[in-house]
Amino acid sequence: MEIDLLIKNARIYIGDPGDVYEGCLGIENGKIVAITKDSSMIRSSDVFDAKGLLVIPGLIDVDTHFRVPGMTHKEDFFTGTSAAAAGGITTVLDMPNTNPPTTTRKRLREKRKLVEKNAVVDYGFHFAASVDNQSEIETVNDVASVKFFMAGHETTPTTVDDEGILFEEFSILKKRGMIATVHAENQRLIKYLKEKYKHSEDFEAYNESRNNLVVHLATAEVIELARYIGNRVHICHSSTKEELEMIRAAKKSGIDITCEVVPYHLFLTKDDATKLGPYGKVSPALKSGDDQKALWDGIENGVVDCIASEHTPHTKEEKEKGVWEAPAGMPGNETMLPLLISSGLSLNKIVKLTSENPARIFGIRDKGKIALGYDADLVFLDPKEEWVVKGDELQTKCRWSAFEGMKLKGKPQFTMVRGRLIYENGEIDETESRCYGRYIEFNY
Ligand SMILES: [Zn+2]
Repeated sequence: MEIDLLIKNARIYIGDPGDVYEGCLGIENGKIVAITKDSSMIRSSDVFDAKGLLVIPGLIDVDTHFRVPGMTHKEDFFTGTSAAAAGGITTVLDMPNTNPPTTTRKRLREKRKLVEKNAVVDYGFHFAASVDNQSEIETVNDVASVKFFMAGHETTPTTVDDEGILFEEFSILKKRGMIATVHAENQRLIKYLKEKYKHSEDFEAYNESRNNLVVHLATAEVIELARYIGNRVHICHSSTKEELEMIRAAKKSGIDITCEVVPYHLFLTKDDATKLGPYGKVSPALKSGDDQKALWDGIENGVVDCIASEHTPHTKEEKEKGVWEAPAGMPGNETMLPLLISSGLSLNKIVKLTSENPARIFGIRDKGKIALGYDADLVFLDPKEEWVVKGDELQTKCRWSAFEGMKLKGKPQFTMVRGRLIYENGEIDETESRCYGRYIEFNY
């Protein structure tokens, strides 16, 4: 057997029931063609010694915001995908709340043109619903989903908070078999609460203006729409105990619903918001310790389907503007995997929620596990090696982290996309990788 690349001395995670296989991986044309202990029959022009590192499937980040076009001072596709690679993410699904937002097929084509020579990892786009783009939703192709922002914040130009429009647009998606991804918060209640609390510069006031009720009203509405219409929905960044209870009941009653949780809700709470100030301003806002515990329980009992980064970078200058002026969001794709590994969450759960399930939910072929015929999207790491988070060493353009100074384990040492080494110990090989990432194929 003659192949392109032989990876030796690897501890390969091969899935249920959590098995790690000590051996070699053979790669040909970017695909895994051999998983074996005996490489004596394999001839390869290139050999990579993994030196006993753990190898897991590259993460598929279904919720990321790389800010192209229009806000590239916060992040661009090269810095965003570089940060992804450094965090072990080999496929990203980028959100459409850019400037202008991706609400038309023309803008989708333009966005693809803009990023095609700037992607380090593989990628796909979510399309945006707006109040008047039904004809576009009817005809758009090659997207991961149609995203609905039921509530707005500083970087969402396309809020859809009208039940009639949601009804019509979900119905189109039902007809087309497409999935709706939803930011579920209630716009009218947020508007009221913001008015009520805006005289306070206290950070707690922001969290009160986006309390748990704004989440619950919107989630209940999405669930009832999906129950009536029968369309598939994916709830982004689920954040509260009651929200997960609603989703659990909805699943049980047969509604085609999935959900994700994100690092800032898993690793930070309201108490951290006081310390972080505007840097802890996110949307949905940080929640209580009880809510945080419910998210971890949801991971254990299977209600939670995915963990996504919700990488929403802003510059320090923008974040310093104070409670109401600062935009909501924080960077997070580089720290997600180390945070999860350091949390003690089982490898089985990590791989399922960051790789296998995302591939299944969004119909991404040949990715999501280490198996014959799958893309050689691989992350190499030592789960015991310690690393301290330093914002100015991160690949993200905004160069700060809410987890600054934290000692974490399991930072990726090497990341491969379709068999090509694109990230190595803190460095992106720009000549090798800048144009390497490609747009993935979707079912619609
Ligand atoms: Zn998001």
